[in-house]
Amino acid sequence: MSAMRCQKCEQQAAIHMRQHRLHLCKEHYLAWFVEQTERMIAKYNMFARQERILVAVSGGKDSLSLWDVLWRLGYTADGMYINLGITSEDDYSNASEEYARQFAEKRGLTLQVVNVAQNTGRTIPELARRTGWGKDRPCGVCGIVKRHVMNEAALQGGYQVLATAHNLDDEAAFLMQNTFQWNMDFLRRQAPVLEAGEGFARKVKPFCRFYERETAAYAILRDIPYIEEECPHSVGSKQLFYKEILNKLEVDHPGTKLQFYVGFLNARQGGLFTPAESGDEEGGRNLCPGCGQPTTSSGLCSYCKVTRE
Ligand code: SF4
Ligand code: ZN
Ligand code: ZN
Repeated sequence: MSAMRCQKCEQQAAIHMRQHRLHLCKEHYLAWFVEQTERMIAKYNMFARQERILVAVSGGKDSLSLWDVLWRLGYTADGMYINLGITSEDDYSNASEEYARQFAEKRGLTLQVVNVAQNTGRTIPELARRTGWGKDRPCGVCGIVKRHVMNEAALQGGYQVLATAHNLDDEAAFLMQNTFQWNMDFLRRQAPVLEAGEGFARKVKPFCRFYERETAAYAILRDIPYIEEECPHSVGSKQLFYKEILNKLEVDHPGTKLQFYVGFLNARQGGLFTPAESGDEEGGRNLCPGCGQPTTSSGLCSYCKVTRE
């Protein structure tokens, strides 16, 4: 069997994307990936040239690729790394911080680092144990803290935009979970762009239509060193469960994930859901008296409850 050829230059293909019926060599793939990102930024009106962007960086392939692409496109994008204090055999948090730091240093980019234990006196697993929320998994508390820290950093730093590197696999899994539970609040708010409101900047997901293997291919072909280990607490999570189901569907029907997600966005635009009231992804319309961020609670927000004595 002859090797698959790039559809643009006849060189040997580095990647074959069944869902797009497209195979490309390294050079054309890297160019395609950057072009696609720019198309999504324009299509969903994510941000303008002169706006300042803060990228949430975890040290993994998705977020470092996103930062790299925004940098190559000439946007003003700083990075934000949150050290969660998660230890494991591989020293997950400190190791991933190192990847983020090296990435920034190599390109002369600005990386802000927030260390949760230094700020609150406790690591994420410690905060989770103390509150007893989420039983054996610290992810609920982790999400609350990350959201708070990012919102705060964006506002204090004067960034108009907060960019996260959620990919299609993340979005489709989240959508499937929320659909099975008919979680209307989350369904109303799941979008490539969440407009700014009181207490939070605009939130955007430029990679929401890339398959996970596409972002991985970009990082590898661009020679970006990244942390390959997943957070040890993600093992056995609902999100991974839904990702596996979607991967099985995708094998027999390439394009299933993309159809599912884009179909949802179209249905939303067509008025299937009543628009969400203002508030960020937590949906809050009140402002927390402790920290000033949006919350659904009439008293202290979840972050303040989790971190205060
Ligand atoms: Fe946080 Fe859970 Fe994700 Fe780990 S898996 S980073 S604890 S949300
Ligand atoms: Zn080519
Ligand atoms: Zn608060």
